[in-house]
Amino acid sequence: MDALRLLSRSAGLKSRSAKSSLQNLPSASGHSTNDGNSDPAATRKRKRHVDATEDTSNVVVPSATLSEEDVRQIQKKQKIKIVDLNRFRAASANSESRKAQKEQSRIFSQPLTSFSHLRQFNVNKALTRNVSDQAYFQPTEVQMATIPLLLRGSSEEASEPDLLTIAPTGSGKTLAFLIPLIEKVSRSHKTSDGHPERHISAIILAPTKELVSQIVTEGRKLCLKTGVRITAMRKGMTLFEGHAPTNEDGTEDDESEKDDEDQISTTSAPVTKTDILVSTPLSLVHAICPSWEEDESIAPHPLPNIETLILDEADVLLDPIFRAQTLAVWSACTSPSLRISMWSATIGSNVEELAVQTISRRHKSLKIRRSQRTPLLRTIIGLKDTSLPTISHRLIFTATESGKLLGMRQLLHPSRSFTSGKEDTTVPLRPPFLVFTQTIERAQSLYNELRYDIPAPAGGSSRIAVLHSSLPTHTRSSIMQNFRLGKIWILITTDLLSRGVDFRGVNVVVNYDIPNTVAGYVHRAGRTGRAGREGGVCVSFYTKEDIQYVKGIANVIAASEKSQTPSDRTAGVVKGNSTTASDPAKTGGIQPWLLHALPSVSKSARKNLKLHGVESRRAVHADDDEKTKRMKRKARIGTQSGFERREMNRKRGAIEHSLQGKGKELVDEDGNGNEEWEGFGSA
Ligand code: ADP
Ligand code: MG
Repeated sequence: MDALRLLSRSAGLKSRSAKSSLQNLPSASGHSTNDGNSDPAATRKRKRHVDATEDTSNVVVPSATLSEEDVRQIQKKQKIKIVDLNRFRAASANSESRKAQKEQSRIFSQPLTSFSHLRQFNVNKALTRNVSDQAYFQPTEVQMATIPLLLRGSSEEASEPDLLTIAPTGSGKTLAFLIPLIEKVSRSHKTSDGHPERHISAIILAPTKELVSQIVTEGRKLCLKTGVRITAMRKGMTLFEGHAPTNEDGTEDDESEKDDEDQISTTSAPVTKTDILVSTPLSLVHAICPSWEEDESIAPHPLPNIETLILDEADVLLDPIFRAQTLAVWSACTSPSLRISMWSATIGSNVEELAVQTISRRHKSLKIRRSQRTPLLRTIIGLKDTSLPTISHRLIFTATESGKLLGMRQLLHPSRSFTSGKEDTTVPLRPPFLVFTQTIERAQSLYNELRYDIPAPAGGSSRIAVLHSSLPTHTRSSIMQNFRLGKIWILITTDLLSRGVDFRGVNVVVNYDIPNTVAGYVHRAGRTGRAGREGGVCVSFYTKEDIQYVKGIANVIAASEKSQTPSDRTAGVVKGNSTTASDPAKTGGIQPWLLHALPSVSKSARKNLKLHGVESRRAVHADDDEKTKRMKRKARIGTQSGFERREMNRKRGAIEHSLQGKGKELVDEDGNGNEEWEGFGSA
């Protein structure tokens, strides 16, 4: 497959590939969609500005008419499980059998089987049109299950629940929470005599600026002509009257200038005139509690108008790193009618417990009577905590740190096999590559090391970039944009980009350093295979030192391979990927002997890894003893100096250039090559 095809799609260029991206819905893996419809024409993402009435989806059964038995069948087929957590817990307390508990608490609500049915759920015309203009026709499983639940507020029979959703990476969770939210805000405008007093009524929290900006971009497309506004938190933004904003924090400053119009003057200060505010927890905490850094116990300024709080990547937001900030925002939302929803591909039972407890404490402190409390539902799509079955995984033992560098270089040189020393006949991996390291320093070192490996005819060092949180916001945005446009082919990063960000065309995720947690593996791998795309590969290097931590990752890979359907297995071959997932010997897939051979990691080692990463890869500290310093120095990336590498590359480039004929470029200025990606040439 031409690697540049997917890139040209994100560059807004005419796509040459008409293949449906949703023939396989992410978690259904090779299943036909909801009602057995597998017609690619029904699911194909099409050009913008198509009339909503042109929807050729042949899902003809109006959702509202489905019987409970039909809903059960659909949920079973799409691997959707919805339970009422309060009912489930009450049943557990009565010590009934687990199966009976689960059955009693299952919810069989009407699914949204096609976006053309949004109108039946009373979704306004403009929003419905925006969805179809974005060429979304067939809802993914998570959208099918959760959009109707969150739209419940419109009907008399049931109220909007609090919701916890666990659905695979790239399965469309953003749309699942944005559509009902925009509808809810738009409805609230209508009920205020046609002249709504615009104020922030919803907050979406996400762990990184990159994700915040992506959610706002998606949201803006859906808000067109609905009268609803969505804005990213920025430096100096005034959230409420009397609020004196500070410019201390690193909040978003890459938003469009248009937002400046969103400010209205009030008697005290210009208050941001928006409906939905998207922010990282810290940016918002700085705004509602300026001295929070000094004293976390200071109560934040209340935000009584917030009716909806959404936590995207909820398990990270409720993890100790962000927990205090997230809970501070949550507690500032004092409206008794607040609804909260939490979304991630991985939500462990500890985070679920924390959410349940926080909601219950809130109900008590706000003196909300038991009968008036909103239900708390949990939706799980597919298997919990597994990687997408459409992604191929390779676990590669490199023994040492320098072995990784060799492995990495072999990945970039398609003429060589990297799975073993021998040449193999499989098709090489294609960029774009997203490469993860444990720390910022290591990301930077790997970048320095690989930067001059790219010969000038392939675009030189402009094809490779490094992105981490120490870079200024505008540099981060421009790197993100260039990677999306296909100008950058290899992006080296840290876990900053492991969550939520949607680069549609990423073909290969490389764990240059193993992730700190199993959930981390699921999320990093999930940067490929987005929206049901096939052929994504996740390559993980591991050394002697990592062996003790690898079992968890190997288990995830084994579970993902087990859940593959025959069509997933052939996908790699059909798409020209270098893997045949059906043959673990070739793919580096997990074989039973490896699972048995790998040691189990102790709880304390797991905790230590989660908090600090693999020890030898941590930064050198002044108080490290000599032995530790030596170990850390040994694990450093890179051997040659930048100068030596640049010289070597220059010579190699000159030789290749004269051999190939003058001026032959693999890609044009915009990165839209009309030649196939040939790697960086053989060294
Ligand atoms: P998640 O949050 O579950 O990881 P995203 O919301 O980022 O996934 O969506 C992943 C990709 O899937 C995005 O590029 C989005 O445009 C696309 N997508 C979402 N829903 C649909 C749909 N119903 N049909 C086609 N593409 C979709
Ligand atoms: Mg997401």
